[in-house]
Amino acid sequence: MAFVLYAVPVFFLLIALELFADRVRGMHNYRLADALSSISAGVLSQATGLLTKVVGLLTYAFAWEHLALFDLPQSALWVWACAFVFYDFCYYWHHRLGHERNVLWAAHAVHHQSEDYNLSTALRQSSTGFVFGWLFYLPLAVVGVPPLVFISIAALNLLYQFWVHTRHIPKLGWFEWLFITPSNHRVHHAQNPIYMDRNYGGVFIVWDRLFGTFQEELDEHPVVFGVTVPLASWNPLWANVQVYAGLWRDARCTASWWDRLRIWFMRTGWRPADVAARYRLGKPDLRDFRKFEVPLARGEQIYALLQFVCYLLAGVGMLACADWLSTTATLLACLWITLGLYSVGAWLERRSWAVRCECWRLALNLPAAWLSEMLGIFSLQGSGWFWLMLYTLASLLGIWLACRSAAAALSPPIEPGEGQQQHHDD
Ligand SMILES: [Zn+2]
Ligand SMILES: [Zn+2]
Repeated sequence: MAFVLYAVPVFFLLIALELFADRVRGMHNYRLADALSSISAGVLSQATGLLTKVVGLLTYAFAWEHLALFDLPQSALWVWACAFVFYDFCYYWHHRLGHERNVLWAAHAVHHQSEDYNLSTALRQSSTGFVFGWLFYLPLAVVGVPPLVFISIAALNLLYQFWVHTRHIPKLGWFEWLFITPSNHRVHHAQNPIYMDRNYGGVFIVWDRLFGTFQEELDEHPVVFGVTVPLASWNPLWANVQVYAGLWRDARCTASWWDRLRIWFMRTGWRPADVAARYRLGKPDLRDFRKFEVPLARGEQIYALLQFVCYLLAGVGMLACADWLSTTATLLACLWITLGLYSVGAWLERRSWAVRCECWRLALNLPAAWLSEMLGIFSLQGSGWFWLMLYTLASLLGIWLACRSAAAALSPPIEPGEGQQQHHDD
C-alpha cells in the first residue's frame, strides 16, 4: 500500500508533464470529466482496497504457511527477481481470463471504459477485482514466495504499468520485444476488432508472444480506445457495477436455470439464447464512433475539479492514516468518499438532481462529523471544525457561481430517464 502512497506525487507530476506535452504538441488527450472519472475510480479502488485487500493477503499467507513447497529466503535477490517474473506470468493469466470470462470482465472492465488514453487512465482501477483475483497468485505461495516479497512485487508490477498509458511515446525498438510498452498497451486498450483481447502482460510482453495473444500497433489501424458496450457515464460507482448489472439482468430474464448459473463463467459477451433473441445488443460501427460527452460550463468544470481535489486529498489522507484507522472508521470513510465521488459524477453528467445532491452532501457533512465524534469513531481535532465549516460555505458559494455560469452558457440540465448519452464530435 505504501508504494502507491509514495508514488502519488510522481503520478501527478507525470500527469502535469503529459498535459504540458499535450499543449506543446497541440494534442487533446485529456478531457476533464474523463480524467476525473478515471482518477475517481482509482481513489475508490484504493479506499475500498483498505478493506478488501485482506481477502488476498489472508488467503496468500494461509497458502504460504501450509502449502509452500520450498523455504525461499526473503533476503535473496534471486528470489525477488524470479518472483517478479513468475508474478507477471500469473498476472498474464489473471488479466487474460479477466477479458475472457464474464464475471472477471465485470471487474476488469473499469480499467478499459475510458475512451481517452492518458496517464489518468492508468489510475482507473476496479474496486471489485479482489473477489476472484487472489486465486491467480496462489501458485506463488505454493512455490514459497514469502508474503512480503509477494506484496512488494505486486505493487512494483502495478507501478510499472503507469507509464505505458500515454499516446506521446512511440514504438521503442528492441524494448517492444520484451516489455509492455506504450505502443503495445495502446493496442490492449483498443476496441478495434483487430486489436481486441491482445497484449495481456503487466511488465513482460513475452507471455503474449509465447501464448499467441500478441498484436503489434499498426499505422493503418489507428486505435479507437474504450469498450464495445460504452459506459456512457462519468460515475465511478456505476463504472464498477455496469457489467455486473447487465449480467444480473440477463440472468434474471432467462428461462433456463442452467444459463442463469453459467452466464457468470461463460466467455465474455456470452448471453442466454432466449435473452439474446429478445433483447438484442447492436455491434458498434467504429466509423461512427463518438466519445461520450456532456457539455459543461466553465464554472461547473471548476467546481467539479475543486470538489474532486478535496476527495483526492481525503483519499490520500486515508491511505496515509490506514494503519491507525479502525475498521469502522475505514468503512465509514469509504462510504463518505463513495457518496462524494458519486455526487461529483452526477454533477459532471449534469443530472437534473445533481445540485440537490451536492447540497445534501454538504449539509450532511457537519452532522456526520459530529456523530462520528460522538460515537468515538473519528475526531476532527483542533481547527478541523473551522475548516469543515469553511469548506461547506465555500462549496455552497461555488454551487451558486457554477449554476450562474451554466445558466449563462448552456441549456437546462438533463432530466432522469432522458438517457445519459450526449455525443459530440471532438
Ligand atoms: Zn485489460
Ligand atoms: Zn491499461
